[in-house]
Amino acid sequence: MASPTSDTKQDVITVYQGRPNFSCSQCAAVITLQDELISKHFSGREGRGYLIHSAVNVKLGKKEDRHLLTGVHTVADVFCVGCNDRLGWFYHKAADQSQKYKEGKYLLEREKLIKDNSWTLDD
Ligand SMILES: [Zn+2]
Repeated sequence: MASPTSDTKQDVITVYQGRPNFSCSQCAAVITLQDELISKHFSGREGRGYLIHSAVNVKLGKKEDRHLLTGVHTVADVFCVGCNDRLGWFYHKAADQSQKYKEGKYLLEREKLIKDNSWTLDD
């Protein structure tokens, strides 16, 4: 694996190769790295959700205010660019101070993701 001081001119796909990641359950597009996972203990719209730092191969829908369990949040639905399936939502803003840590993060439905770590590493 590249060290932080090595040449960083690699594209996103290269970075993701060979690292545990989550991919879209419909079209297998890579959505995020396991390293980006903040918490598995969130509620999605259809069950368990993951709070995630960043995602790729996704696009955002229109911003809207939504009443969630933890108060009003300005969110946008997140869609897979490969198959247009709705994967979860993105937190633009949280009204409650205690929820501010979610801003700029993704909530992705566990049911929509497949964990891919079938690779092996001898170490
Ligand atoms: Zn997809």
